[in-house]
Amino acid sequence: MAISMDKCARCGKIYHKIRSTVCAQCQDAEDADYEKIRDVLCYEPTLTPDQVAEAAEVELACVMRMINEGLITSVSLSEPAVCGRCGAPAISLSKRLCQSCLEKLSIECAEALRAMREAQMEREGYYGVHRTVERKRRTPPTPGSPKPPTRTTRSRAPKRTAGSGR
Ligand SMILES: [Zn+2]
Ligand SMILES: [Zn+2]
Repeated sequence: MAISMDKCARCGKIYHKIRSTVCAQCQDAEDADYEKIRDVLCYEPTLTPDQVAEAAEVELACVMRMINEGLITSVSLSEPAVCGRCGAPAISLSKRLCQSCLEKLSIECAEALRAMREAQMEREGYYGVHRTVERKRRTPPTPGSPKPPTRTTRSRAPKRTAGSGR
């Protein structure tokens, strides 16, 4: 088994390459940078490598190194920006939508907004009043319905007066 010698990506020293692209002395710094880059990508996974480097305050070379090693995945690098709805090339990385889907989406948004407004109108506005009137008209007075208690008391009263008059 041949010993793999490599130049440290951080300090340029020749070292025994085991798994990392940096020497043992630089490993801690490399790990720290990796943590920073990973944190940045965790919150903003669509950043380009140079944006990641800037946000994480690490060297761009360091970001590229980690991408090449497969330690981190930069969306912008690993795959071209595609539309999340139809898979066509997206207009921008952050939007992840193609032009036609963006237009469709804005129409859908407008429609959803309109439906929402209509529902609100129905709840508290014109439609609501209209319906209540209709419902009132539709209910006919039922003759067989039990008479309210006030009437019973009133109808009992004249009986008593008639009885006492005899
Ligand atoms: Zn080194
Ligand atoms: Zn699309």
